[in-house]
Amino acid sequence: MIPEDDWLPISALQHLLFCPRQCALIHVEQAWAENALTAQGRQLHDRAHESGPESRGDLRIVRGLRLHSRSMGLTGQADVVELHAADDGTPPGQRACLPAIDGVWSVVPVEYKRGQPKENDCDRVQLCAQAMCLEEMVGASIPRGALYYGQPRRREGVDLDEPLRELVRDTARRLHELVRSGIVPPAEPSAKCVSCSLAEQCMPKSAGQGRSARNYLKRQIEVAIKSPSPEDAP
Ligand code: SF4
Repeated sequence: MIPEDDWLPISALQHLLFCPRQCALIHVEQAWAENALTAQGRQLHDRAHESGPESRGDLRIVRGLRLHSRSMGLTGQADVVELHAADDGTPPGQRACLPAIDGVWSVVPVEYKRGQPKENDCDRVQLCAQAMCLEEMVGASIPRGALYYGQPRRREGVDLDEPLRELVRDTARRLHELVRSGIVPPAEPSAKCVSCSLAEQCMPKSAGQGRSARNYLKRQIEVAIKSPSPEDAP
């Protein structure tokens, strides 16, 4: 079990999968910058959390639920958690009894995303981490969740299978190691740098492998020394 003081945000898993340097800049050096993409994403999450709980027949909807996992040392907030009245066909291990709500329920987390479905696992890892937190909190297994994308508006079911769960556990382990180390890895410039909110702080072209800040400064000084001063100009 990981002590509460060392818990890290679930969103950091996405940062690590997107770019280890971005993750360390945010969670080791506490750098954060918002760009148009992150601002739109934040507004979408704020709107999802603002609406109150809802009740529709056999469905209850809870928004902005706080989550945590002691075993993985993660904490966060679910956009939406759907509670479906468990019927006789629901396997016993998937039935949850919840505080302040009568009945037996099966639990489905739903995460809202601003853009389109991605080819990488970032969104599925975040959703699965939420489900694994919920499982620890409610004591029932959650085999499926859903991602809701804004462009085009579409809901996508996600199987929370064992390979995805292992990826979540492994990413959480690597995240804690990275933050404990206190080291910001060198930049590995790639196409993703174009959409990175921290490109300005990162300076990917000058902070890549073998291009430490010290080496960068040395090169700049060498260039300055070699450049003729205006007084030397004919
Ligand atoms: S600019 Fe590129 S290398 Fe730097 S943090 Fe962002 S994604 Fe990573």
